[in-house]
Amino acid sequence: MRAAVLRTPHRLEIEELRDPRPGPGEVLVRVAACGLCHSDLHVIKGQSPARLPVVPGHEMAGTVVALGEGVQGPVIGSRVVAPFILPCGRCAQCARGRDEFCEAFWSLNRGQGTLYDGTTRLYTPAGDPVWMAGMSALAELAVVPATSVFAIPDEMTLEEAAPLGCAAFTAYGAIRHAGALEPGERVAVIAVGGVGANLVQLARVLGAAQVIAIDVGAEKLDLARRMGATDTVDGSREDVRARVLELTDGEGVELAFEALGRPATIRQSLDVLALGGRAVVIGVSAAGGLTEIESNLLVRRQLRLIGSYGARTRADMPQLLELAAAGRLRMAEAISRQVTLDEAPQTFAALDRGEIVGRAVVVMEPR
Ligand SMILES: [Zn+2]
Ligand SMILES: [Zn+2]
Repeated sequence: MRAAVLRTPHRLEIEELRDPRPGPGEVLVRVAACGLCHSDLHVIKGQSPARLPVVPGHEMAGTVVALGEGVQGPVIGSRVVAPFILPCGRCAQCARGRDEFCEAFWSLNRGQGTLYDGTTRLYTPAGDPVWMAGMSALAELAVVPATSVFAIPDEMTLEEAAPLGCAAFTAYGAIRHAGALEPGERVAVIAVGGVGANLVQLARVLGAAQVIAIDVGAEKLDLARRMGATDTVDGSREDVRARVLELTDGEGVELAFEALGRPATIRQSLDVLALGGRAVVIGVSAAGGLTEIESNLLVRRQLRLIGSYGARTRADMPQLLELAAAGRLRMAEAISRQVTLDEAPQTFAALDRGEIVGRAVVVMEPR
């Protein structure tokens, strides 16, 4: 199969690898589409630890083509999406339902670049191992633990469904768990990229009365409005805090989401809060990144600063897919570019330059 392989930072290249085979408890998916996400960009730039060589790609939809030993479902031929957190289903965290803390996911997949028997499914034609990041979906085939594949609604295309696996999944977890949005609350979303666009739409769908999208440039703010933002603030032209206060009767919002991972925007997420408000940080910074905050703000205004990572795969994904099946999500709207696998390296470069509005999605050519 063809796959995007990173052997040294900054150099993602398309290579031929052996077709992978699923082990016990795993399924083989023919990848139809894979979104290009900022956290892979951190890996490509060497800012996030990963064992090299690696195949990135963790926002994927495709068709099940083979089942490993002991797998009861899904059936071969079903169209599935796979969220980026792949719970083992056996550890203490998985038993508590906290799939995002799965011990095997962190120690073996993130730590070692393998699946849960401690080996990779990816090899060069010469038999040398290539390590995995998540299910390594920037490839024509991907092996995924059976805990982590979910059927997608008939009316959805595979291209539309792919961003459900990271952008929408991450937004859903942040809103439901870390943010614990209550109906009628006012929300600010800082940075309207792939995750931000989904934060905007899901905040509306899950009951926010007002969603203020904050970014720079007309294109991203237009996307935010199409995703359901009630108001937009252009940080390059407007004083963000003053404008948010103006839009909220001088109070600020109850809940702010930061989806960029930069010190200035993390501070901004506190600046726009009402008394007692919650700021949820979702944006992943480069490893070791530090943010200074004025701690008296937290104390006197009783603000809460909360981190959020992904969502709870087995509990949350069926609920997110229910919203999709009910036609309540505008997934196609947030996809601004469809590119080929060969165009993935240059499209990551465009993402790095801030040129991608919403999501760019790699669509695999049929082989
Ligand atoms: Zn992602
Ligand atoms: Zn686990």
